Amino acid sequence: MSSSDNLNITMPERVSYIIQKLEEAGHEAYAVGGCVRDSMLGREPQDWDITTSALPEETKAIFSRTVDTGIKHGTVTAMFGKEGYEITTYRVDGKYSDSRHPDSVEFTRSLEEDLKRRDFTINAMACNSDGLVDMFGGKDDLENGLIRCVGVPEARFGEDALRILRAVRFSAQLGFDIDPATLEAARKLAPTLANISAERIHSELHKLLMSDWPDRLVLLHELGIDRVILPELERTAKSGRMNELCARLAGAPYDTAVRWALLLLYTGSASEIMHRLKFDNQTIYTVKALLRFRQVPVTVLDPAGMRRLMSDAGRELMEPLFAFIGAADPDLDLTGARRLCRSIIDAGDCTDIKSLAVNGHDLMQAGIPAGKSVGETLERLLSAVLADPSLNTPEKLLELALNNKQD
Ligand code: ATP
Ligand code: MG
Repeated sequence: MSSSDNLNITMPERVSYIIQKLEEAGHEAYAVGGCVRDSMLGREPQDWDITTSALPEETKAIFSRTVDTGIKHGTVTAMFGKEGYEITTYRVDGKYSDSRHPDSVEFTRSLEEDLKRRDFTINAMACNSDGLVDMFGGKDDLENGLIRCVGVPEARFGEDALRILRAVRFSAQLGFDIDPATLEAARKLAPTLANISAERIHSELHKLLMSDWPDRLVLLHELGIDRVILPELERTAKSGRMNELCARLAGAPYDTAVRWALLLLYTGSASEIMHRLKFDNQTIYTVKALLRFRQVPVTVLDPAGMRRLMSDAGRELMEPLFAFIGAADPDLDLTGARRLCRSIIDAGDCTDIKSLAVNGHDLMQAGIPAGKSVGETLERLLSAVLADPSLNTPEKLLELALNNKQD
């Protein structure tokens, strides 16, 4: 690691190396954007982006292994083993005619032009071994905890409406306020978020929910964003339940399904919203299961009831389920329920068909006709074992299967 003078930025060796290589070839190069912001905040950057005056072909000539990951936008990824670093040529974005995609990108040899196209002052700083380049007061805004557009907010949101949602998301991730002029423009242009794809909205909402200040969700309502991207949330707010939702989110663990389930518990229409926002099937399944099994009164279950729940929900859902139930209802004491669940696992009790002491093959050998009745019998045996784990031996189960055929 090498440190750049009085700033709090420690670049990975690899990043310094890339910058140095580009400089040795006569180009300018800097770490830029999120990594500079996060380092200055003392947060670990997720990745290090490099911006350079070198054209993509020039960059490719310098590094032995590169991948054209975003060549149209000037991005080349330099590979070092399995690790890749994105190197992007300084660019100005062309006109935006649909508040979504720039119609063209144009390369430039000016760092200032490149920083100008970036969304917020805190995201528009660059640094290398010569120090920090901060042309728009990003350092001050970081110190004051402010999200502020680079340039005229209305113009910037007019170019790309996603930035409105990004402002709220960064506010939630960093605990920052949004500067008044930026806030006003966001309110004014919120309706243009209708042009943004469901995938990008989902991704921003996800980051907002999973942030340290998920209660900034209230900004979506204050700015009239909910009406455009999540009308169900506007209804929640209008029914006076937004503050409660925000408080619940703020107390929830950092679990994707748990936090989405909380939001959807308050908005209703969970399936419709998740399909609209193009959730993956696994998340849809888990969130729906959380919402469904939340109805079970876990604090008053006896061991048989808990085993039944573990069987119906699946063991892997139990911890998220307790987390969700606890987050949705902070007054509930779930210590006993958690302990009971744990003791069932520790006792090695069977809670699924796979762990029964007999399988379908055994049943058929014992004379149960192949077909539907095998599965039905297994279900019946599981029910018996959930009620009384001591029945889970081959002898007892075969006896149960054969003697007590319909019950
Ligand atoms: P994170 O990766 O934590 O979400 P980030 O700041 O790195 O945060 P990215 O989306 O990775 O955000 O973008 C990298 C940089 O590109 C940003 O810091 C910003 O300078 C610029 N940028 C990204 N999206 C936009 C946009 N919609 N409009 C203008 N600039 C943008
Ligand atoms: Mg990033």
